[in-house]
Amino acid sequence: MEYISTRNSSKTFKFKDVFIKGLADDGGLFIPQTLNKYSKDEINSFKNLSYIDLAKKIIFPFIDDFMSENELSKTVEKSYSVFREKNVVNLIKVGDRSILELFHGPTLAFKDVAMQLLGNFYEYYLKNENEKINIVVATSGDTGAAAIDAIKGKENVNIFVLHPHNRVSSVQRKLMTTGKDNNVFNIAIEGNFDDCQNLVKAMFADKDFSNNIKMSGVNSINWARIIAQSVYYFYSYCLVEDNKQTINFSVPTGNFGDIYAGYLAKKMGLPINKLIVATNQNDILHRAISMGSYEVENVNETISPSMDIQIASNFERLIYDLNGKDDLKTINAMNDIQDKNKYILDKEKLDQIKIDFASSRMSENEILETIKSVYEKFDLILDPHSAIGYRAFDKVNIDGNNIVLATAHPSKFPEAIMKSINLKSDLPQELRFVMNEKENYDIIENNVDKVKHHIKERI
Ligand SMILES: *Cc1c(COP(=O)(O)O)cnc(C)c1O
Repeated sequence: MEYISTRNSSKTFKFKDVFIKGLADDGGLFIPQTLNKYSKDEINSFKNLSYIDLAKKIIFPFIDDFMSENELSKTVEKSYSVFREKNVVNLIKVGDRSILELFHGPTLAFKDVAMQLLGNFYEYYLKNENEKINIVVATSGDTGAAAIDAIKGKENVNIFVLHPHNRVSSVQRKLMTTGKDNNVFNIAIEGNFDDCQNLVKAMFADKDFSNNIKMSGVNSINWARIIAQSVYYFYSYCLVEDNKQTINFSVPTGNFGDIYAGYLAKKMGLPINKLIVATNQNDILHRAISMGSYEVENVNETISPSMDIQIASNFERLIYDLNGKDDLKTINAMNDIQDKNKYILDKEKLDQIKIDFASSRMSENEILETIKSVYEKFDLILDPHSAIGYRAFDKVNIDGNNIVLATAHPSKFPEAIMKSINLKSDLPQELRFVMNEKENYDIIENNVDKVKHHIKERI
């Protein structure tokens, strides 16, 4: 499989470049030139596979000669051995819908599913390449912890994580900052998540700096993350009993990464009816999908901080498709967003989006109410992000097999749970120790030179 950039469809890349670089040098996002499409019969045959065997099957065609099939097999097994569920995820029936629990990994968010695999991809790659790299990543709270857990203690790789100071939950922060490995560096930036993301982008764009430190990225635009996430769409489809009805997924969305993985699964032949973009009050994607206006506004702090984002980086991949896979048109659209903070989707594009997507937006009160009503009715505690996904089905009102992606464990957001149902949601036993560990992070102002200096001093 060969890859191209959304901003240049004539130059091709191998998976190795796509994975290590994350972002193309032209600023575009990597996408495969062509996709493997599965037939109905093939998809039906997936029903007999464990999660791990299905993951091997789905991922292998994407990585080409990066690893042998046998190596990949070992890597997938190793990556998912750290999950608390044998089949990585868990599908439960709750009233008229199903909930796909994706939070059984080491840091209690769905991001572990992709990140554990990436960590082992790095390890494999670095063993063969004899070089040392530095991962720099921005986080709204969950990516950082998942990336740190995946990279900590590995050889020839350091990780620097930028999180917005005082804007992540205390548990999110502790899961990042209490480790003792000397290849992990936490930085609290005096700004919001988009500031952190912009700092990372600016460091990547400075080729002297990024080449010099051999900078690599694991944020949600990394294609390797997307393919790892597409697996659970296939897997949960196979778990649903009645496949005669249409199947819909509601996905709590920030950077458009997780939901794009669902869209990818659909393009690979999985018969998904609608993908529902479920946003909090930072609703740029809801405005884009419902009204055609992708317009950047200020970021509001919410009780679902992992979705407090205005610039949905992965949306560029959809913009590319909506523009008929035309790289020049994609560049123009991205320039509009850069210069005018705005991109208007015409009716034709909007109609096209609505074939695959629907959307909804949740206020803070609606989130708290949803946590409460689900708890009272079903004795189940949803985290605020998953509650947004749950409620979206009531707003969009769509028939079929409705699956909500539960993206985090409630104990990661104890403040919100307490506020909603006046209960303490405990961390799983094996993670309780982090509450009493010493934290280690540096606070730095929102200034790219200061951050670069800080990183250079530590490598
Ligand atoms: C990151 C995250 C999201 C949003 O995922 P995207 O891929 O950015 O859309 C939703 N919920 C939780 C708990 C997250 O950590």
